[in-house]
Amino acid sequence: MERILNYINGKLVEPKSGNYLDNYDPSRGVVYGEIPDSDREDVKEAITAAQTAFPEWSAKSNEERSRIMMRIADLIDENLEKLALAESKDNGKPLKLARRVDIPRASSNFRFFATGVIHFASESHLMEGEAINYTTRTPVGVAGCISPWNLPLYLFTWKIAPALAAGNTVVAKPSEITPMTAFLLSELCIEAGLPSGVLNIVHGLGPKVGQAIVEDPDVPLISFTGGTATGKAIAATAAPMFKKLSLELGGKNPNIIFADCDFDNALRISVQSSFANQGQICLCGSRIFIERPIYEKFRDAFVEKVNRLKIGPPLDESSNLGAVVSKQHMEKVLSYIDLAKKEGGKILAGGNRVELDGEFSEGYYLEPTVIEGLDYQCRTNQEEIFGPVVTLTPFDSEEEVLTMANSTEYGLAATIWTQDLTRAHRVSHKLKSGIIWVNCWLLRDLRTPFGGMKKSGVGREGGWEALKFFTETRNVCIKL
Ligand code: NAD
Repeated sequence: MERILNYINGKLVEPKSGNYLDNYDPSRGVVYGEIPDSDREDVKEAITAAQTAFPEWSAKSNEERSRIMMRIADLIDENLEKLALAESKDNGKPLKLARRVDIPRASSNFRFFATGVIHFASESHLMEGEAINYTTRTPVGVAGCISPWNLPLYLFTWKIAPALAAGNTVVAKPSEITPMTAFLLSELCIEAGLPSGVLNIVHGLGPKVGQAIVEDPDVPLISFTGGTATGKAIAATAAPMFKKLSLELGGKNPNIIFADCDFDNALRISVQSSFANQGQICLCGSRIFIERPIYEKFRDAFVEKVNRLKIGPPLDESSNLGAVVSKQHMEKVLSYIDLAKKEGGKILAGGNRVELDGEFSEGYYLEPTVIEGLDYQCRTNQEEIFGPVVTLTPFDSEEEVLTMANSTEYGLAATIWTQDLTRAHRVSHKLKSGIIWVNCWLLRDLRTPFGGMKKSGVGREGGWEALKFFTETRNVCIKL
């Protein structure tokens, strides 16, 4: 059994209650470790440590903070293989994906904000002949950072890095479903010489640990990524205390394929944008809209490609899809496939659980599933499934596809495939999504604003947006 510990005030410590939760290996469907079942007392200790560390950390120069963060980034790179293996085991994702995407992105997050903060500048506004204004952006205090299970270290560091770079101290909670790489990060922070209390990681359940962070009046800013229902509960708790809130929530993203697209690229990347990480990326395009003249050609070629994807153990280099994250999540996804059938959908590919041989026979594997024939307003097409399930829908005009694409309560990301530049601009501007990719998907420049409209969230992460979120703005006006 691998037992992990909290990271509080620079030390790896047991939860005060002495209680632990099971940690599952989804590829085998077995418990392989224990994680602290922390509670309010552990959180309070972490907040006190973060408050104590704040004056010194916030007073350090940007360069000093940057140097320590760069050491953490280097240590993540040096431990790439160990971290990738841990991520794959905890989450069920293919090892090759963790090695290529998750872990390199975690060190990039640290490096990006460690260097970014050195170049972060604020504005001054001259009122000619009258006054000069200058704006300062200073660290706020203790930041609460709460993250989900789908891209564990990638999203955890995406919050922690800008919070620390801006001079805040942090109390963070990774998902209880995938806590392992956050624990390994705490070991690397100790090795890198991060001062005690600057980053504290408390493991445990959302309604206990997460809620205690959000409720505490000594945590003035909360950065959360997760489901829309959880985001709503967090906002209800935090808003009366006027905390700064950044909420990155669910999505039901449209992938729009016009008849004039570069067919082969649209096809190849649509398979990725549908099923990468078993469809468990908030940016996956789960509703594919195809212009009528190429509907059948695209559908048939897509289904053929999907049928060739290999579902297998995460460590197997040939696996395209690993396991979904938990039994409960697998059952949720299967229930949506049932719902789609009841709503009149036709399953063109997949639709079932996959039972692998031997030690993987109890793992949570699902076939990549393609469904057609559903109304765009049905539940399958409106609710977030967050698994390897996509629907195909034909459309006849730009107006029609915009109505369908914008019909959900979400507005996170959208993808457009067309060779017509004017149309690409026109459609992009009419889509109610915070992130739009034209002829590509998940091409990320960390300087760009990242986040969604409608119930996909509040605020933006990335670049200066993140550093602005993690600082308090003050304007000074001086009469000339
Ligand atoms: P979740 O909302 O269940 O949990 C996210 C985190 O919140 C976990 O650490 C959890 O323990 C914690 N939590 C749960 N209840 C809490 C509470 N009452 N107070 C405070 N914290 C609480 O989400 P999940 O199932 O882990 O992740 C999947 C969801 O995340 C999907 O909806 C997906 O779209 C979304 N997501 C969004 C983005 C984005 O950038 N917009 C990125 C990745 C995932």
